[in-house]
Amino acid sequence: MIDPRAALRQGLLGLGRSDSVRRVVERAPVSRAALQRLIAGEDTAAGVAAATELLASGRLATVSFLGEDTVDVAQASRNRDAHLAMLRALQEAGATQRGAAEVSIKLSAVGRALSEDGAKVALDNARQICEAAAAAGTTVTIDMEDPTAVDQTLEVVRDLRADFPWVGAVLLADLRRTEADCRDLATAGSRVRLCKGAAHSQPDSARFEDKRDVRLSYVRCAKVLLEGKGYPMLATHDADLIDVARSLADKELRAPESFEFQMFFGIRPEEQLRLAQAGVAVRVYVPYGDRSRWYRYAVHRMAERPADMMYVRRSGSTKG
Ligand SMILES: Cc1cc2nc3c(=O)[nH]c(=O)nc-3n(C[C@H](O)[C@H](O)[C@H](O)COP(=O)(O)OP(=O)(O)OC[C@H]3O[C@@H](n4cnc5c(N)ncnc54)[C@H](O)[C@@H]3O)c2cc1C
Repeated sequence: MIDPRAALRQGLLGLGRSDSVRRVVERAPVSRAALQRLIAGEDTAAGVAAATELLASGRLATVSFLGEDTVDVAQASRNRDAHLAMLRALQEAGATQRGAAEVSIKLSAVGRALSEDGAKVALDNARQICEAAAAAGTTVTIDMEDPTAVDQTLEVVRDLRADFPWVGAVLLADLRRTEADCRDLATAGSRVRLCKGAAHSQPDSARFEDKRDVRLSYVRCAKVLLEGKGYPMLATHDADLIDVARSLADKELRAPESFEFQMFFGIRPEEQLRLAQAGVAVRVYVPYGDRSRWYRYAVHRMAERPADMMYVRRSGSTKG
């Protein structure tokens, strides 16, 4: 029997690849409002403004550049330069102290998918971004984009960590391998963002397909990370998982500064503030950049939770 929610999710992910649908949705007033709520803006200044506003409210930020598709080395260099400009601007705004605002990198944006030497180009560019982050006194997290490229992405993290031990890795709880990866990465100083895993359109035997199984896997992985010696970054909007993770952290006598929660810009801002006011570290993922990428980003958020479009429409002025 067809699961209507899975069908809707597949439909939305399919729409994300259609230019004509994108143009229509971008022009619709509700959609435009929704996009603007989920994305800080087009340029460095907009990303910095959103990050500093979050910091002023007691939250932390990880700023993520949405660049054009990277088709050649020159584009990869331009995307790298956008990250460097962001780090300079965050530092000038006083936002990088003690890693309060950091950057998240997509390896594809800095060259990973290029047919010639893509892995090397991406590593070189990521290394330059890490050098700039070190100079600014902050950190970098490497997003996990493609669940089929986990080994390749973690290898880049390992290479970077040789010089920059604070580089953050991302693990996805919907992958069956992730509990073992958590054990490998729960070492002293190791920053690990744990996510459920982004919505996908095709069944895959390497993943847990059932949402309940993904949540159970998330709990097992969070337990491994919180019991370990690293710095867990628990990225979820799921209230039950947040409660479980807080209980596990209490049980492990974790100091408040030894782990953090992460959520998306514009999603559950009241909960972000509530946690921050309770003394829990909350970092908000702030996307900004090229308008042509806004739609694809927002469609992925909608595919995870189609009701979000209504939610972002109803929400008041508590931006971020
Ligand atoms: C900071 C951050 C970084 C991420 N980085 C990556 C990455 O590098 N690679 C990757 O593949 N994925 C990444 N993700 C995406 C992640 O994998 C999930 O796809 C996404 O977070 C949705 O999962 P969820 O845990 O929030 O649960 P969901 O199943 O989407 O939501 C769980 C529950 O949260 C609540 N909720 C969710 N949205 C709302 C809302 N708008 N309003 C009210 N309640 C809501 C509801 O109770 C819902 O049932 C990242 C997510 C975050 C937050």
